[in-house]
Amino acid sequence: MSDRAFLLPEEDIDISHIKRLGLMGGTFDPIHQGHLVTAEAVRTSFNLDKVIFVPSGQPPHKVEKKVTAKERRFLMTELATVTNPYFEVSRVEINRQGYSYSADTVSYFRQLMDPDGELFFITGADAILEILTWKGIDKLFAECTFIAATRPGFQPQAMAERLGAQLKPEYLKKIITIEVPAMAISSTDIRSRVDRGRSIKYLLPEPVEQYIYKQGLYKA
Ligand code: ATP
Ligand code: MG
Repeated sequence: MSDRAFLLPEEDIDISHIKRLGLMGGTFDPIHQGHLVTAEAVRTSFNLDKVIFVPSGQPPHKVEKKVTAKERRFLMTELATVTNPYFEVSRVEINRQGYSYSADTVSYFRQLMDPDGELFFITGADAILEILTWKGIDKLFAECTFIAATRPGFQPQAMAERLGAQLKPEYLKKIITIEVPAMAISSTDIRSRVDRGRSIKYLLPEPVEQYIYKQGLYKA
């Protein structure tokens, strides 16, 4: 067993020796194969030492929506990632009071990792298209490179065109796209399937599926 279980929550994960770190933020309500396949594809393609999943505490862009309790989303993320030795889950946004902003989270990991290390922020292309609405984008682009997962056949050029007009060219250079076949899976679709009594098998790891049924999540 790693000594991770004995760390106090506020100490989070020891990453002081990490040179190439991936962060994947999300609501993870619930986490699914799209998130996992993407994280693993980015880890191997970009030679990352670790990918840390960061479930959001209070997501600022989902205020009007009903979101499952953060401890449950954290637990589902733990259940989903436990079999991958390169994956970890952070409590940093769960423990933080108020809204969770990626810029604060990125700075937090920046100061904890190797000062010469590189930080990669993994997102879906949909999230990148909203980046101009994010708080602290200058700080974000100074501290990390973005890896945006796209559907096969998606034209990265289309994204560059949509962002290009508003985003500084040096920022655009720090957004790299990667094609991921599992892009069609979404948490919204999984929640709706559970509510309608449809199968969610193979869309997410089995322990997460079992947890959803056991806790009666996503039933209206
Ligand atoms: P919802 O449908 O509730 O918005 P979601 O499936 O988009 O959920 P989030 O927790 O909102 O999941 O997403 C976390 C991150 O994962 C975001 O950067 C999002 O763009 C990305 N993402 C979501 N679905 C996929 C997928 N199928 N493949 C790759 N990345 C994804
Ligand atoms: Mg989403």
